[in-house]
Order: sequence, then C-alpha cells, then structure tokens
Amino acid sequence: MRKNRSRNRIDEKMKMRVGIGYDVHRLVANRKLVLGGVEISYHLGLLGHSDADVLTHAIIDAILGAAALGDIGTHFPDTDARYKDMDSLIFLREVAAKIRQVGYRIKNVDSTVIAQRPKLAPHIPHMRTTLAETLDISVAQIGIKATTSEGLGIVGEGKAIVAQAVACLCDL
Ligand SMILES: [Zn+2]
Repeated sequence: MRKNRSRNRIDEKMKMRVGIGYDVHRLVANRKLVLGGVEISYHLGLLGHSDADVLTHAIIDAILGAAALGDIGTHFPDTDARYKDMDSLIFLREVAAKIRQVGYRIKNVDSTVIAQRPKLAPHIPHMRTTLAETLDISVAQIGIKATTSEGLGIVGEGKAIVAQAVACLCDL
C-alpha cells in the first residue's frame, strides 16, 4: 500500500502533457499581417474575427490541448463581438494563466508557419521574444520555423497561411 502510494506520487511529480495545434487563415487585401504577435509589412493580411494571428492561434490550441482544456473557439468564440480584431497575444496570455491555474507550466513550444510569401525568417527572432514574453517563458523554450509549400495548394498559391504547433507542459 505504502509502496503504491509513493509510486503514484512520483508519477504525479513527473506528469508531462503534450498538445498539438493547427490553424489556417485566408490571405486577403486590406488586412494587417500579424504572425506571432509581430506585424509584418505585406500587401495582404490574414482574415479572421480577431487579428487572425494564425501562429499564435496554433500555439494556443497546442497549450490548451496539452491540458485537455478544449480549443481557442471554446474560450474565445468568434461570435463574441468583444474579440473583434482582438490582439491574439491577449488570448495567449489568458491561456498561459489558465494552465497555471490548473497546475501546469510550459516546458517548451515548437511551431512551424507554412507560407509561400512573404519571407518570414527575418521576423522569427522578434516573434520568439514577443511570444516568450507573453507566455512568461524564456526564448530558448519557444521554437518557430518557417517553410513554404513549394508552390502547391492554397498556401503555395499565396491564398492562405497555415501554422502548426506542439506544446509540452509539466507540473508547476
Ligand atoms: Zn485562427
């Protein structure tokens, strides 16, 4: 009995959780392009109810998913007028607080943005510092990669940007 209890305690101490996030938004005229909380100069921007920051949305879903707390739509429905054109970093900060409330902290986040244009590499350092500050983690805990889709599909045709993310949480 005693042995069992101590084993359970160890298991709980080492509790780790992984979550996955995916998002896609359409590129249109007359919208700002915001990725990872950074505004990028481009003639098109992402369409959505909030600022449509596809990378931040994928990261939010990965973090929520790791804690089995649903997804971005459950917490910030796009039918809610309060979230119109909202800075998605506000959602991200709230999600980081939510997972702390249930006893988790972020071990690391990794992500990939898939965009044919514009070139994202020069913006990645700024995105990493912005997201790390918002999540209250170090820059070393957040990875962002950018790739194209080799001209294929809606991303390749420059009609949309896709983002994928994973998050690893552990006990506070
Ligand atoms: Zn989204």
